[in-house]
Amino acid sequence: MENNFNLPKNNKKRVVIVGAGFAGLKLARKLRKSAFQVVVLDKQNYHQFQPLFYQVATSGIEPSSISFPVRKIFQKNTNLHFRQTQLLEVLPDQKKILTENGELSYDHLVIATGVTTNYFGSANLERHGLPMKTTAEAINLRNRILASFEKAILTEDVNEHTKLMSVVIVGGGPTGVELSGAIAEMRRFVLPKDYPELDFSKMKILLYEAGPRLLNGMSEKSGLKALEFLKELDVEVHLNTRIEDYDGEKISLSDQTEVYATNLLWTAGVSGKYIKGIAKETYTPSNRLVVDSYNQVIGLDGVYAVGDIACVSDDKEYERGHPQVAQVAIQQANNLADNLMSNKQKPFKYKDKGSLATIGRNMAVADLPGMKFSGFIAWVLWLFVHLMAIVGVKNRFFIFVNWAQSYIWRDQSLRILIAPYNRNKKKSTNQQSVSAS
Ligand SMILES: Cc1cc2nc3c(=O)[nH]c(=O)nc-3n(C[C@H](O)[C@H](O)[C@H](O)COP(=O)(O)OP(=O)(O)OC[C@H]3O[C@@H](n4cnc5c(N)ncnc54)[C@H](O)[C@@H]3O)c2cc1C
Repeated sequence: MENNFNLPKNNKKRVVIVGAGFAGLKLARKLRKSAFQVVVLDKQNYHQFQPLFYQVATSGIEPSSISFPVRKIFQKNTNLHFRQTQLLEVLPDQKKILTENGELSYDHLVIATGVTTNYFGSANLERHGLPMKTTAEAINLRNRILASFEKAILTEDVNEHTKLMSVVIVGGGPTGVELSGAIAEMRRFVLPKDYPELDFSKMKILLYEAGPRLLNGMSEKSGLKALEFLKELDVEVHLNTRIEDYDGEKISLSDQTEVYATNLLWTAGVSGKYIKGIAKETYTPSNRLVVDSYNQVIGLDGVYAVGDIACVSDDKEYERGHPQVAQVAIQQANNLADNLMSNKQKPFKYKDKGSLATIGRNMAVADLPGMKFSGFIAWVLWLFVHLMAIVGVKNRFFIFVNWAQSYIWRDQSLRILIAPYNRNKKKSTNQQSVSAS
């Protein structure tokens, strides 16, 4: 049934944006003073800054510092409306969408729903592996790591210690590399002080990558440098090695060996989520929506896709689609906003401003147009770029304070285990967190 969602009735054309991530938020911000009625829908009521999830997972920063209430961003805009709901289906013939709160009509629909974790069909990895694609998942990761240490200190079985303390990270992209480095720094500077009774030579940090190198989206030089930094931090990196199976403790590897760990962090792949009502042929094999160079979904008039979910089909330079990074999402949203507000249509052209990845304190790699460098300068640049990209002055301030504190005192203050309240469970907090996934 059509639901007007308490939207003002007027003659303005309506742009419905689904997803308040990097792409959706940028588009809404650019359209807020336009002649359109702009409606932003998201299943959550906050925007999340994914590049710093790994710092939440490793107790470096508060989850609230990287999550920002969408309503606050648009408080002063009478033309722009946010509704927390989930898109279920697109009805292109009727120019409507179906949400979990009813139908809503649109003149232009923009799908900016991002992507989700891809386990490549392995039910066991999906069940036991720990993803990091939402703030809630980053908090769960933090809880799991801390709860494992609380559990380890309660037992004198040394084999259990190795399983509980060791962390396996799967995927040698920026997320896997950043997580490995941050956990290695916790092992070096923080955890031995919290758990002096445990033998930290038993704690292994293992990074597995199916391909022949780390940081595949960056230069070979940066990949090699990241490997060197991780070795310095005593992370065991295994290239050309795939995870075949995981039962929650035993990890079976493609080289026929086995390792044991209670915590396997899965950062090995993403895929889009199929949206009902859009023909299956419109998706790539990894479920991205195929769009033309104006970001219009192929064959669907008035329906656009931007950001990670979109795959531009006709850019010769990026035949397999643009990289799924924030800059692509932001630039596509910018271009689409200009096109929606003008009669002149401009095709999307990605301007690569470079890539950065950090491994640890004073250790980062940078691929910028015309130069590649690593070490302290790259690390400071990484800090600056990420701090400036965070939404909200207060968030920037708190992140800066957290970073300064951990740099000066080599400590993180956020090692607090707050498991979600579940009135039906009678288990203790740490049992809940270690066994939940
Ligand atoms: C751990 C991690 C680290 C990263 N690090 C970097 C980095 O350092 N640099 C970089 O450039 N990029 C990085 N990325 C990638 C970057 O975050 C993405 O490219 C970017 O978030 C894509 O923006 P988006 O708007 O397309 O999607 P998202 O930011 O994912 O936003 C999608 C939004 O859609 C909402 N949504 C989804 N489905 C529905 C639905 N059915 N109904 C309603 N709402 C829905 C979600 O709640 C979400 O708010 C990282 C990603 C991850 C996961």
